Amino acid sequence: MRPGDSIMYVKGVGEKKSQKYKKLNIETVEELLYHFPARYEDRTTVKRFDEIANDEKVCSYGTIVNFEKSTPKRNMTIIKVVVRQGNEGAFLTIFNNEYIKDKFNVGDKISFYGKAKKVFGRLEFNAPDIEKFGENNLTNMIYPVYNLTHGLTNPEIQKSLKDSLSKISFSEMEYVPLEFLEKHHICPLEYALKNIHFPATIDTLKIARFRLIYQEFFMLQLYLLMMKKFTQQHNTYRITPLSQLDLFISELPFELTLAQKKVIDEIKRDMDRDIPMQRLVQGDVGSGKTIVAFYSIYNAFLNGFQSTLMVPTEILAKQHYQSALDLFKNTGIRIRLLTGSTPKKEKEKIYKEISGHDCDFVIGTHAIIQDQVNFEKLALAITDEQHRFGVKQRNSLYSSYEIMPHVLVMTATPIPRTLSMIIQGDLDVSLIDEMPKGRKPIETIAIRKNLRKNAYDRCTEEIQKGRQVYIVCPLVEESEDLDIKSAQELFDELSQNQFSNYRVGLLHGKMKARDKAQIMEEFEDKKIEVLVSTTVIEVGINVPNATVMVIEDAQRFGLSQLHQLRGRVGRGTEESHCILIYQGNSDILKQRMKIMTETNNGFVISEKDLILRGPGEMFGLRQHGLPEFKIADLVKHMNILHRAQEDARILIDDESSHTSAEKDKVMQRVKVKFEKEIKTIALN
Ligand code: ADP
Ligand code: MG
Repeated sequence: MRPGDSIMYVKGVGEKKSQKYKKLNIETVEELLYHFPARYEDRTTVKRFDEIANDEKVCSYGTIVNFEKSTPKRNMTIIKVVVRQGNEGAFLTIFNNEYIKDKFNVGDKISFYGKAKKVFGRLEFNAPDIEKFGENNLTNMIYPVYNLTHGLTNPEIQKSLKDSLSKISFSEMEYVPLEFLEKHHICPLEYALKNIHFPATIDTLKIARFRLIYQEFFMLQLYLLMMKKFTQQHNTYRITPLSQLDLFISELPFELTLAQKKVIDEIKRDMDRDIPMQRLVQGDVGSGKTIVAFYSIYNAFLNGFQSTLMVPTEILAKQHYQSALDLFKNTGIRIRLLTGSTPKKEKEKIYKEISGHDCDFVIGTHAIIQDQVNFEKLALAITDEQHRFGVKQRNSLYSSYEIMPHVLVMTATPIPRTLSMIIQGDLDVSLIDEMPKGRKPIETIAIRKNLRKNAYDRCTEEIQKGRQVYIVCPLVEESEDLDIKSAQELFDELSQNQFSNYRVGLLHGKMKARDKAQIMEEFEDKKIEVLVSTTVIEVGINVPNATVMVIEDAQRFGLSQLHQLRGRVGRGTEESHCILIYQGNSDILKQRMKIMTETNNGFVISEKDLILRGPGEMFGLRQHGLPEFKIADLVKHMNILHRAQEDARILIDDESSHTSAEKDKVMQRVKVKFEKEIKTIALN
């Protein structure tokens, strides 16, 4: 049996069952083997009846002496299997399954596993798993529990796996070079797959897991490095730093932080090479990423090239456009704003200016990457706050250009260290880990919903001092329409009650771009004191006079998102406040609120968030356009990641003692595994 064979060749799987497997994304034997148990039940403890305690989950055994059938209700049959063990007896209660009487006979020796109940001193097991003594498929083992789909049972999957494991050619599936296996004492694939499904002991399970976790990291790293290598083969425009740059810096109204300078240097060096830059700049909200972007754009301009700055929302595009006009007013850079709501005629004009190099710098939304947009000399493409952009998209964005632009991605969503390490396989990462001087930390408090009025009183105080307030509506899961409804309701309530003496504005995602822009303008011009909003204000908006941020139903937001939201305040010289209104009592919730009130550091928050979310929720990879891990855990398996990363690099850089056939095998494998994502990648 070969790894790529259809699952239909496996014992017990026919046409019909294969459709069920398909629902689990399993079509080949290999995919079945990589369908790991979701968890295990330790069924290794076998006890005699007299050793078993009430409520204990345990294996035991005995001889069937009778079947007692009763029908307490219509449509309900109960069969009590009476089992003897020496002089002791027990009942195994089976519901609605008369088949049990065909499967077993009086006199059979059986084993079973289930939860024991003592009823009037007599042992009873409700719906236990039963098998013939010695079979050891259900009892006396570490029992794998799989994610199932309707029409597919756990024992069925086990059976198919046993069949596959006994017939498959493992050598065909082994693609981690022997050199690395030996280096880390990693077990062979055969051992790993057998023991991940049917571990002999907890220790063998650990050995198996180690291998599979390593392998998962190793593959992903190889994939990312491959992408990077692919990018690096492209030509790019070389951007040499010119002396006017220093002047530009010296004329800024503030001194750059050391962190900003460091990152600017890194970018400067990257762009002054013939290899396209692929850099991610991470900097907490308010750390001053925009100026880093503008600096790089100016640098490109001085060298006679064009640049883009792409952002996720029109509001943000407009805001950047304004600050760019301001900052570059004496430089001669020709700046254009291009968004979805740019009038058609204006768009056509801008397209022409772009292709004729009659503009140097285009700020906008996704409108920038439409087919009609063809830069004459695009040398630098920056995306701001675009953590929603995946690896694959990023690489295909500019694939139509013969000469690839330098790419800079800026994000304020701090990436936990582990995830950042993974992404580094593909992107170089810069960190702005310092805030501009004089920033007052945002004071955050969390209050229960019944004390909500206090929050609004606090807002009123600030408004009376001439400040402005954001109120963020609860997040309604999965539905923008509901989000808007809740925003509207909150707006109605607040503008009629608490803030009836003030001007209240409403902002949500479904509003027309023009209306949104108008509301934002009014807020910036202090014509509105209270801005009720959905999370559309999450990214980038800058209104320094707003000093209070109230977040309703804060428990519904992720910590990083809360942090991002609260970053809308604390942008001026005044002390700012964030008030989280929450309901609920769970410990995790309390811990989450505590983290928010105790730290203003986005990186700390993202790490803690990752830990609190717990295993299984390995968020983040998806956002970067990568598949989630099956078995590896970003929190727990840092050191395995380190090893895998090192090895992937060794292999890619041809430093290892592997043969090229070996390398081809791995690369081929990586290619297949990530096939969908690497359409654009040619292997060398
Ligand atoms: P973010 O990193 O969140 O995008 P911005 O670039 O919007 O942050 O910067 C936030 C504010 O800080 C802006 O008003 C910007 O002019 C200002 N700023 C940036 N760098 C500095 C600095 N080194 N010193 C003082 N203010 C700065
Ligand atoms: Mg920003």
